[in-house]
Amino acid sequence: MSLPTLRLKPHEHHRIAEGHLWVFRNELATLPPEEMGALVRVESSDGRSLGTGFSHPTSKIAVRLLGGEFETVDTAFFAHRIGQAIRLRQRLLPGEQAWRVVFGEADLLSGLIIDRYNTTVVMQMLAAGMDVRREMIIEAILQTMPDVTGIVERNSMKVREKEGLDLRDGVVWGTVPDRVRFEENGILIDVDLVGGQKTGYFLDQKVNRATIARLSAGKRVLDCFCNVGGFALNAANGSAVEALGIDSSAQAIEHARHHAEINGLEHCHFEQANVFDLLRQHVDEGRQWDIVILDPPSFAKSRSALQGARAGYAELNRTALKLIPPGGLLVSASCTQLVPEHELMDIVYREAARLRKRLRLVHRSGQAPDHPVLLAMPETLYLKFLVFDVID
Ligand code: SAH
Repeated sequence: MSLPTLRLKPHEHHRIAEGHLWVFRNELATLPPEEMGALVRVESSDGRSLGTGFSHPTSKIAVRLLGGEFETVDTAFFAHRIGQAIRLRQRLLPGEQAWRVVFGEADLLSGLIIDRYNTTVVMQMLAAGMDVRREMIIEAILQTMPDVTGIVERNSMKVREKEGLDLRDGVVWGTVPDRVRFEENGILIDVDLVGGQKTGYFLDQKVNRATIARLSAGKRVLDCFCNVGGFALNAANGSAVEALGIDSSAQAIEHARHHAEINGLEHCHFEQANVFDLLRQHVDEGRQWDIVILDPPSFAKSRSALQGARAGYAELNRTALKLIPPGGLLVSASCTQLVPEHELMDIVYREAARLRKRLRLVHRSGQAPDHPVLLAMPETLYLKFLVFDVID
């Protein structure tokens, strides 16, 4: 049986031939089939095959390629790819209890995210091609990770609407406790993966949280945008004299306090507040922090929001710098994919210069290695983590 073949318009094959996995609708000379997530072959305008992938009848991303030529896609295909992804993580992050098993495009499984929290697996399908194959994916997860006791789908992300998919969450296999407990960097974390209080967790900062623990001994640490406590808990566990985490979400703060309690970190406190307001308030009160961590949510999902995002980073970093004495550290993270590292560094440099503060970059990092970057797809490189020493 031969697959339906979609032909690109002339000159549209370069990015794809170099390994990018998305074929946009406007690049195609042939219309994709009506079937959601159909397996199709893509070829250049002169008939050279560029691989197979899952198509979508209406989405802007018309085909998500699988990085190879496949006549069929079955459970064995998914088990093979997931198996490769697991082996990579076991080499890069051995012994972790919570990790990203599959990071979509970077694991050549565009539109599929799989995370593990102890023996519970969370899967997210962001594209129709994955959604229609959910039974195969569940089977492949069980084959490759036989110690798994429960699988949850977290499929209520807005992006699913772009693919015409319904929003749904819940247990799809086995049993999942109300709170799944795991240890990260020696700290106990409880996540609620199924209930109304669903928290989830930001696995991409795992290694950077350990970095903060190492820098915090004897320091006063302010963790802005702390979510369920991440950096503040690690700072406190790394012998900070004081750690304060701030988040605007009441639910995140409640979980963060629970984490301080179960880990016996009495000098770790949390406050519900808007970071922008709180930083200004601390400036007015003349407060000082040896380390200020900024880990805001993405400020721009599209180019039209970029100006606002730059202004947001400028304001945050400027205000934070006012709270840091010489010898202190500014930790500036950004998960906005559209703001590259050099641009974030430039924003911090300009704001420091305005305040006549001299900064030295002492550490730079990004997303943890279980979120690898596919070089052909800049979309997979998103997290920046910069540590600056304030000289004077
Ligand atoms: N540092 C965290 C992840 C941060 S995610 C970790 O290591 O796990 C971003 C967080 O910012 C979310 O928890 C969100 O609730 C919070 N947030 C978004 N806007 C905010 C604002 N203006 N003030 C305070 N918190 C905010």
